[in-house]
Amino acid sequence: MPSRLLIIDDDKSLHALVRAELEPEGFQVFSASNGLDGVRVATEIRPDIILLDVSMPEIDGYEVCELLRVQEATVNIPVIFLSATADPAERARGLNAGAADFITKPFFGDELRARVRVSLRYKFLLALEANRAMRDGMTGCWNRAYFEERLRAETAAVNRHHYPLSCVMLDIDRFKSINDTHGHPFGDKVICTVVEVLNLACRNEDVVCRYGGEEFVILCPHVAAEGAMILAERIRAAVARQCFETSGESVAVSCSLGVADDTHGLGMELVKASDAALYRAKRSGRNRVCAADTTISLDGLKEKIHAG
Ligand code: GH3
Ligand code: MG
Ligand code: MG
Repeated sequence: MPSRLLIIDDDKSLHALVRAELEPEGFQVFSASNGLDGVRVATEIRPDIILLDVSMPEIDGYEVCELLRVQEATVNIPVIFLSATADPAERARGLNAGAADFITKPFFGDELRARVRVSLRYKFLLALEANRAMRDGMTGCWNRAYFEERLRAETAAVNRHHYPLSCVMLDIDRFKSINDTHGHPFGDKVICTVVEVLNLACRNEDVVCRYGGEEFVILCPHVAAEGAMILAERIRAAVARQCFETSGESVAVSCSLGVADDTHGLGMELVKASDAALYRAKRSGRNRVCAADTTISLDGLKEKIHAG
């Protein structure tokens, strides 16, 4: 996908110059000729980078930059100021307003391209770092910190839009004994394979997270408990079917799952309800799925489980 650049400048001739310099490099260039329009377009199209004129009628570049910095949709887009002045105090003011860089007009094409690339590289690295902080190092799935953030966001969305939300808790059965018998590296391999199974079984919009050690939690937006039971049972069966081998020996692995939906509460209440259901699955023999709502039976859902 080409990088998308937005230029906000009341001098239209500058838009043509920027296009001439950056379109041949593969950039897709968008234009706005005043500050408020610029903020609107930036919010709508979320460009990768913004070139922003300092002096414009109505609201100036500094104000535009501050508006972009307080909106979630635009806060991480690097802004490069374009200004006719080389006054260091002006540059400092621009950088203090949250800009990534400053270019003096008339600009030199090579410098414009180089500075745009530096800012984009920096943005890319920041995004990569932010993603890494939210991922579990061993399995690559979302970690507990991400889960908690996402649970807050989903709770707010359910309160606003009233759609169902389910939570599935999974714990690998007798995992301590798998480690003790076959060693930790094999245990690690089991955990990674379970994540592969989860990723295959879940939809893109499901949120698969490592909750801790050998426990996983899946948030399923727009899915009520029956749907989550079907998913949980498919996961249980897929793990039980999976072939785990070490030193030529095949090792049976199973997991237990607990399912709850928003009718049992939201936020930590939802997590607690699915955890309590998981606990029942463990107590009633492991390698099974239990729902917080005990009136839901897997027998009634059999056809749908096998249809997937
Ligand atoms: P249950 O069926 O009741 O869940 O029994 P369990 O043995 O699975 O439960 P327990 O909580 O006693 O043991 C979990 C074990 O998981 C203990 C811990 O050492 C191990 N574990 C946690 N994280 C990792 C990991 O990243 N790799 C490996 N190999 N083991 C881990
Ligand atoms: Mg456990
Ligand atoms: Mg366990």
